[in-house]
Amino acid sequence: MGKIFYKTEEEIELLKESSLLVGKTLAEVAKLIKPGVTTLDLDKIAEEFIRDNNAIPGFKGYNGFPNTLCTSLNSAVVHGIPNNKPLQSGDIISVDCGTILNGFYGDAAYTFEVGEVKPEIKKLLQVTKECLAKAIEVAIVGNRIGDIGFAVQEHAEKNGYGVVRELVGHGLGRNLHEAPEVPNYGKRGYGMQLKEGLVIAIEPMINLGKRNVRQHEDGWTVVTSDGLPSAHFEHDVAIRKGKAQVLSTHEFVEEVLRNKL
Ligand code: MG
Ligand code: MG
Repeated sequence: MGKIFYKTEEEIELLKESSLLVGKTLAEVAKLIKPGVTTLDLDKIAEEFIRDNNAIPGFKGYNGFPNTLCTSLNSAVVHGIPNNKPLQSGDIISVDCGTILNGFYGDAAYTFEVGEVKPEIKKLLQVTKECLAKAIEVAIVGNRIGDIGFAVQEHAEKNGYGVVRELVGHGLGRNLHEAPEVPNYGKRGYGMQLKEGLVIAIEPMINLGKRNVRQHEDGWTVVTSDGLPSAHFEHDVAIRKGKAQVLSTHEFVEEVLRNKL
């Protein structure tokens, strides 16, 4: 495992600015999501918005990834590549976005409903969001990495869902992926102890069916082995005493979604 870079207050402030821009970009994407729109349309809007805000898309070119957004539909878990296929009513789509602002990465994701989505899939989204909230609750000074994974796993499995193990959350800073790894499964009281100055991206990836995943032939997209839907929500979090500081935000997204109703 790589070196852990603990952040100063100034650095956390910069990470917050970058993370905030991701939240605002996801809200621009949210405005557009409906049947008939393509994921390339979403990608274009996101890239323009990020550049208009004097930032750089964080994923574009990262390990050769071709686009600004990861757009992962239905049985795609993460790392989906935008394409020109129209979204259809009943789809769910995880939109994962990264930015670089003042040298620091922001990284957050939200899974959206397209048109009318089945109740059992709506519940998957709700529970995955709850998994993220429960993980953030325990992401505090003195707890351990295993407490975060335990919180996600317990809530997901209690609801009969599969927890993806091959992909994990991560430290965040001047690099998109820093140490430590932040798995969505684990044992209470195990793993590295959380300290002030640590900034991590927590990102439960929860499957309606079994936990197993495989790599799609495109070399990027990770899909569920059983073909059932998967959900993904992500926040950037600074570890604090008593209560974590959430640097990213879904507030702008949820405001857009409320206004759509
Ligand atoms: Mg992400
Ligand atoms: Mg991430």
